[in-house]
Amino acid sequence: MLNPATPAFKETLRALLPASAFKEDTAPYLSEPRGRWAGQGLVVAPANTEEVAAIVRACAKARIGIVPYSGGTGLVGGQLMQEGPAPVILSLERMNKIRAVYPSENVLVCDAGVILANIQQAADDLGRLFPLSLASEGSARIGGLLSTNAGGVNVLRYGNARALCLGLEVVRPDGTIWHGLTRLRKDNTGYDLRNLMIGAEGTLGIITAAALKLAPRPVGVGAAMMAVASPAAALDLLALAGERIGEGISAFEIMHRQGFDFLGEVGPDFQSPFDETPEWVVLIDVGLPAGLSPETALEGLFEAGFEAGLVTDGAIAQNNAQRDAFWHIRETIPEANRRIGSVSSHDISIPLSAIPSFIERGAQALAQVGDFRINCFGHLGDGNLHYNVFPAPGKGRDDYETERPQVKRVVHDLVHSMEGSVSAEHGIGRLKVADLEKYGDPAKLAMLRAIKDALDPLGIMNPGAVLRQKP
Ligand SMILES: Cc1cc2nc3c(=O)[nH]c(=O)nc-3n(C[C@H](O)[C@H](O)[C@H](O)COP(=O)(O)OP(=O)(O)OC[C@H]3O[C@@H](n4cnc5c(N)ncnc54)[C@H](O)[C@@H]3O)c2cc1C
Repeated sequence: MLNPATPAFKETLRALLPASAFKEDTAPYLSEPRGRWAGQGLVVAPANTEEVAAIVRACAKARIGIVPYSGGTGLVGGQLMQEGPAPVILSLERMNKIRAVYPSENVLVCDAGVILANIQQAADDLGRLFPLSLASEGSARIGGLLSTNAGGVNVLRYGNARALCLGLEVVRPDGTIWHGLTRLRKDNTGYDLRNLMIGAEGTLGIITAAALKLAPRPVGVGAAMMAVASPAAALDLLALAGERIGEGISAFEIMHRQGFDFLGEVGPDFQSPFDETPEWVVLIDVGLPAGLSPETALEGLFEAGFEAGLVTDGAIAQNNAQRDAFWHIRETIPEANRRIGSVSSHDISIPLSAIPSFIERGAQALAQVGDFRINCFGHLGDGNLHYNVFPAPGKGRDDYETERPQVKRVVHDLVHSMEGSVSAEHGIGRLKVADLEKYGDPAKLAMLRAIKDALDPLGIMNPGAVLRQKP
């Protein structure tokens, strides 16, 4: 059993840390973007790795839980511990320095608390690209992004957070420090601990720094929105785009008309490139080397797609402002969703070829449960859909309390039966612990438990996240 972080324990920490490490206004750390979870605990914000280690040692000695906290934008309740003895919430916000850059290696080393947008800017200042990109990039910090193995819009080309990390510095659950900040691209010396820590959601240790991979900055960038006849046509267009533009495709997103309708209903304001919103739209982003024109590449793709009967309408951005306007639509759909209020939201992935069938079968199965609006959009190129179910017009989220568990079960059962994942990029946190237990392969679950028990025998690291806490 764990103990709560009491005022007496705060005094213990005061002897170890400067006064600046204590956050008296805890409110900002106790809520999350969708307002569905409330946290509790004592908030500390250490300034460096040694202070993190000192806090962890004190917590281990007193058997007090630790919840690592970066930008607080996680969508599965991993950064908030609602139940159980009050933990220490360990915020990385003051560890926000770029430690070193190695332009000739395309590597940047930084503290875990650096905000993603600042890493992107630092890379840009070097004439490089840090390609991780998602709507929360102004708040999410690299420690949290790695801990959730975040995805975003450029996974198709550059991979997810895991693929962009070469090395880590981690404070282990006993307070010792693993100095794994390697910049090597090849290092086959034993188990891959970096990949174990990435995606562990703070349950195996605290990431305090990372060595990140940068990419060459494409010389020409461009974007197009194309109306496609169906999800199957969108997949065919993706294949066509791969044939014609190859690695130059940075993102390939799909959006259903419902997202545009929600934006029209509740905002944020947007400018549609279509006179009449098509049922399915794809947003294609390209980045090309010198000598190649993104507009020409996208025009060629549009013509080929049109001739093949895949594309019915479209607009190609003529400048950066238009490209930004296209992305604004995609990136503000989650905010419109939040304003409407979903009955149930799902971050799922499906083998690419099964997506059209999933979309059809999902709608049929939900029609048996009740009257809903479905907003399906997301990273089609990665097989990752945000499949969100909303109240019928005139109704609200609260009208569906009884149906909610059934909606979730119907969607997740279908995903599982089609060899998909019920958490493509947001993680397990506390929201999906039961789903992991239900759908996880038994051998996998046994290995997850064995790893957790071996690395965190006291169970103090983010208790109850990913795996249920042992009694
Ligand atoms: C508008 C919006 C859009 C989003 N879009 C996407 C998207 O496209 N793709 C995507 O993948 N996610 C998306 N997310 C989810 C979220 O932004 C990501 O999960 C992000 O990686 C979380 O980073 P954070 O710094 O906010 O972490 P937090 O929310 O603070 O923490 C997330 C988890 O990581 C743990 N953690 C935090 N820091 C550390 C650390 N240093 N060491 C160990 N564990 C740690 C926490 O305990 C928690 O379990 C979106 C969220 C919002 C609000």
